[in-house]
Amino acid sequence: MVDVLVVGAGPAGLSAAIAVAERGKRVLVLDQGLRPGGQIWRHRQLASLPPHARAMIERALALGVVIANDARVVDAISPNELVIAFRGRIDRQPTRALILATGARERLLPFPGWTLPGVVGVGGLQALIKSGVSLAGARVVICGTGPLLFPVAATAVAAGADLLLVAEQASRGAVLGFGTSLLAKPEALLQAAKYRAVFRKAPFHTGSWITAAEGFGHVQRAVVNVRGKSVTFDCDWVATSAGLVPSTELAQILGCTTVDGAVDVDDMQGTSVGGVWAIGECTGVKGDLAAITEGEIAGRAAVGDVDGARAGSLQRRRNRGRMFGRRLARAFAAREELLQLATDDTIICRCEDVRRRDVDPTWTQRQAKLWTRVGMGECQGAVCGTACTAMFGWAANVARPPLGAPTVGEWGEELRNTAP
Ligand SMILES: Cc1cc2nc3c(=O)[nH]c(=O)nc-3n(C[C@H](O)[C@H](O)[C@H](O)COP(=O)(O)OP(=O)(O)OC[C@H]3O[C@@H](n4cnc5c(N)ncnc54)[C@H](O)[C@@H]3O)c2cc1C
Repeated sequence: MVDVLVVGAGPAGLSAAIAVAERGKRVLVLDQGLRPGGQIWRHRQLASLPPHARAMIERALALGVVIANDARVVDAISPNELVIAFRGRIDRQPTRALILATGARERLLPFPGWTLPGVVGVGGLQALIKSGVSLAGARVVICGTGPLLFPVAATAVAAGADLLLVAEQASRGAVLGFGTSLLAKPEALLQAAKYRAVFRKAPFHTGSWITAAEGFGHVQRAVVNVRGKSVTFDCDWVATSAGLVPSTELAQILGCTTVDGAVDVDDMQGTSVGGVWAIGECTGVKGDLAAITEGEIAGRAAVGDVDGARAGSLQRRRNRGRMFGRRLARAFAAREELLQLATDDTIICRCEDVRRRDVDPTWTQRQAKLWTRVGMGECQGAVCGTACTAMFGWAANVARPPLGAPTVGEWGEELRNTAP
C-alpha cells in the first residue's frame, strides 16, 4: 500500500509526486510511456531534456519517488485500488489516495487522405522525432492549431526537415488577440519568437487548413486552403491536428464528474469523488506551467497539507493558468470548416474501416457503435469518438474498462523503479 498513487509522469504528475515525497509520504507514479516526462518532456536520454525538466525528474528520484514506466492503468476497482498492465502482467495496486495526471491527446478530424502513411498528428510528429525518427531532407507540411505548432515546427527544422508551410486554422484576429493577451507573459512571447526564428524560412499562415492528403501507399501531396486559395504541396509528411482534448477516461471509470470534456475539480484539485484529485491537462488544456502548479496543490492536499495547498501564491498561479486555458480554448477553437472536410468516402473510424457514408449523424454514438462498429476498435473511440462528437454533436463515448488494449503475457515483474 502506498500513501499516494499518481497516474501520469508528465509535469503535473511529477510535481504532485515531489510535493507528496517532500512531506515524507510514500508515492508511486505509474505511466504507460517508456520514460518519465509525459508529452512535453518525451526523451530517449535524460541529458537531452531542458535543465528544469531534468531537474524535476532527478528531484523526484532523489526523494525516493518510485516511477514505474510501461505501466498502464486499465481499470479502477475503487479509488483505493487500481488495475495495472505492467510489462505484460496484470497487477493490482492499493493506495490511500489517488492523483490523476493523465494529460491530453490530439483531436484528429477526418479529411480525405488522412489515413495515408505519412499523415500524423502535430504532437505525433514531435513524438516521432523525439523517439528518433529521421526527418533529414524530408518535405514537411504542418497544419494545425494553437501554440503547439511553434515548438513542433522548430523541432522539425532542427531535425533536418524541409518545412514547406505552417498553417494555423485560427483567424489572424484570433491569433493576434491571443498574442496580445500574452504581453503580461513576455517569456512566452520570447519563447515563441525563438521558435519562429528556427523555422523562419517556412511561411506561417493563419486562417489556413488542410483539405486533403493525396498519394499512393504514402502521402505525396497536401492540399491546403491557404487563406481561401487551394494550394498543393508535394511533400513526404503531413502533420495535422485540431487541438488537444483532455484524457478523462480513467476519471470517468472512477465516477468523477466531467464538465465540457475535462475533469471537474475544486480549488484543491479535488474531484467529485472523495480521495481522488486531478491535475494538469486532464482537467483542461493550459500548458506545462499550470500543470506543475496544480500538481503541487494536489500533492499537498492529498497528504493533508491543506494550508500549504491553499497558499495564496499557489492558488493565484493556478487561477492564472486556468484563465490562460480559457483564452487558449477561445482563440484556437476548431472552425466549422474543419468539421465538414470528410467526404462520403472518407474513413472516419480507422480501426474498423468505417466510412463517413456508413453513419447517419442523427444516430447516437451508441447506435453508431452497434450498427457500424465505429469506435469499437483498438483505440476504443479515442480518435473517432472524439471526431464524431465534434462533427455530429454526439455525446462523448462513455469510458469503459479495460482502458487501452492490455496484453496479459506470461512473464511479469514486480512494480519497480524503471526510471533512468
Ligand atoms: C502529443 C502531444 C505532444 C505535445 N508536445 C508538446 C510540446 O512539444 N511542447 C509543449 O509545450 N507542449 C506540448 N504538449 C502539451 C503538453 O503535453 C502539456 O502542456 C503538458 O505536458 C501537460 O502535462 P500533464 O502532466 O498534464 O500531461 P502529460 O505530459 O500529457 O502527461 C500525462 C501522462 O499520463 C500518462 N497516462 C495517461 N493515461 C494513462 C494510463 N491509463 N495509465 C498510465 N499512464 C497514463 C501518459 O502516458 C502521459 O505520460 C503536447 C501534448 C500532446 C498531447
